[in-house]
Formats: sequence, C-alpha cells, structure tokens
Amino acid sequence: MEHGARTQNEKLDIKTTTCYMCACRCGIRVHLRDGEVRYIDGNPNHPLNNQGVICAKGASGIMKQYSPARLTQPLMRKKDALRGEAQFEPVSWDVALDTLEKRLAHLRATDPKKFALFTGRDQMQALTGLFAKNFGTPNYAAHGGFCSANMAAGMIYTIGGSFWEFGGPDLDQAKLFFMIGTAEDHHSNPLKIAISKFKRVGGRFIAINPVRTGYAAIADEWVPIRPGTDGALFMALIHELVAADAWDHEFVARYTNAAELLDMNEASDTFGLFVRNGDAPEGNALFPQNHLWWDTKTNRAVAHHTDDAEPALDGRYTLEDGTPVAPSFALLREQVGGNVHGAMGRGDHRDSRRDDQASRRRNDPGEPRS
Ligand code: SF4
Repeated sequence: MEHGARTQNEKLDIKTTTCYMCACRCGIRVHLRDGEVRYIDGNPNHPLNNQGVICAKGASGIMKQYSPARLTQPLMRKKDALRGEAQFEPVSWDVALDTLEKRLAHLRATDPKKFALFTGRDQMQALTGLFAKNFGTPNYAAHGGFCSANMAAGMIYTIGGSFWEFGGPDLDQAKLFFMIGTAEDHHSNPLKIAISKFKRVGGRFIAINPVRTGYAAIADEWVPIRPGTDGALFMALIHELVAADAWDHEFVARYTNAAELLDMNEASDTFGLFVRNGDAPEGNALFPQNHLWWDTKTNRAVAHHTDDAEPALDGRYTLEDGTPVAPSFALLREQVGGNVHGAMGRGDHRDSRRDDQASRRRNDPGEPRS
C-alpha cells in the first residue's frame, strides 16, 4: 500500500528493514510521514523469506514506537507497597541509577553470585553477558537460553547439526509433509506461505502435536501424541524403516553423516565421536571436519565424499593406526534393533558392502534383478 503527501511540504519516506516482533525477521517496509512511522507492511522485494506477507503482530510493530502503554521512564515500587501489588511510581533516571549503583556495589562487595541478570530477546547478549561476567556472577541468561540455544545444542549433540527455522522444508518438491516437535507458529510467515502453496497443489500435511492449534488446525491429519514422546515416536519410525529396508541408501550415504566413521575405542577421549583426519587439507569449507568414510571399493578409510568411493553404512573396521571404527548408521541400526539386513560384527565389511549393494538394487527399479 502506498500513501500520498497531504500537503506540498509533507515529506514521505519508506525505510526497508526486518521485523523484530518475532524470530522470523520478515522483510518489512516502514512508511514514514514527516519522520513519523505511519504504518508497516511486508516488503515484497525481500530476498529471503516473507515475500511481502506480514502478520498482525508484525504490522502492529508501530506500537513499539507509539503505544501509550510503553515504558518511557524508570518506575520504582512505592514505599511500603508489597511485591505483586503493582504499586509503582515514576522516578528520574538519576534516582534509578543511584539505587542500582548502591545495590550492585553491595552485592559485588559481598557475594556477586547473588546478582542474576536476565535479558530478553535482544541482540545485545554478548554485551550483557560480558557485563555479568565482569561483575563476577555466572547467573546470567537471555531468551535463547530458554529457547533456541537449547534446540541448537540438543540437535548438535544428538544428530550432529542444527538449523534455524528459516531453512525450512523443501515443500516445493514434497508430496507428504510431517510436522513434529514444532513450537506453535514459530516458523511463521515463510512456512505459512509454503504450506498454503503445498496444500493448493494437493500435498498432504500430517501434524504430530499434542495440541491442535496453529499449524495442526489446518493439517489433513492430526496425530495427538503425548507430550514429550516425540523422540520415542521417531525411534519407532526409524525402527520400522530400517527393519523393512524401506530407506534410500544412496541418499542417506551421500547427504547425511550416516556413513561417517565413529571412534569405537572405549579407552579413547574421543570414544563415540566422529574420527577426524586433522592432517588432511580442508576439501570443502562446508565440511571442515575432515571426517572419514570406509570405502568398500578399496577397503580402506578415505575422506568423506571422496569421488567414486562407496561408503559402508554397516560393519566395524580398523584404521591403519589400530583405531576401531564404525559408520554412525551401524550404531543407529543397533539402537533401533532393525537388524534384518545388517548389524554385523567386527571385520565383516565385505558382507556389509554386498548387503548395501543388494539393497540399492532392490530400491532401483531400473536395475536388473538376479
Ligand atoms: S512473522 Fe510477523 S511478527 Fe514475525 S517477523 Fe514476520 S511479520 Fe514480524
């Protein structure tokens, strides 16, 4: 929407920026009249996410500037008022800063750990953390510590990597979309746009969530699992897929870390971690860790994604320096108990290769069967 000048001298301006009303950071246009924000709309030219779409919360970002209810000066609890009574009175910045200075100086001189600092979803956490650390307290946190940082840490420790919601699912290519373990509406505009397009072209959407609000409300099927059981459901699904050999071996080997070798030496400090070849040159800035595959063609460890290599997904192997290793998929198979086609012991890598090749043939309708 465009707006016109009402008088000859009125100055209109449009600033493009990103919305900070939630984590999506949609592209927005802020319309100004004589330097005052008049309204906000979505930026259709934003290169990354919302394609001009804006939600009600984003459009109401104008209230951050002009709401009569926003805090404009320090408030202090009235003398003799109790906590929770919401009895405050405005004080000057000098009074507020003097009060803080006295209290903080006392805590710092006696026990700095009694000072706990929590900040919201701001972009100053490096600075507020630095302040708390220099003050002498370990007790500081911000929004991320209760939300996204845990998601990222959990995913890094469990599946080896993390993503942020802007790297959403590739719904343009999908026919079936499962949504599980998702904070209600957290993906917001970019995902709403993608789901509406996906459903319009006949895609099927299954939401797995204890509650049926937000996305689950428009899903074709809602699976109301018990809160906290997402992990068990995932393991059960993986078990079924592995047991029925109904998974895409080629894709899993190429595009996941399933074929990467883990250190299986229980006495080692790196037991259970991916084996790294620290001496190897960094072949790809996206994969700087120099992880290894076991190449079933040459029967030796090679850098992952080496041209022409055929990575093993099962079996146990031994590196030249004597380190026992296993592809991470082999351990996943053991965990979920789907050992119909694998879960072999130490040294049986030749069988494992044949198994992988046979499975690939089974999955490839174009290849002759023996
Ligand atoms: S989804 Fe809404 S609130 Fe969140 S960034 Fe986009 S416009 Fe702003």
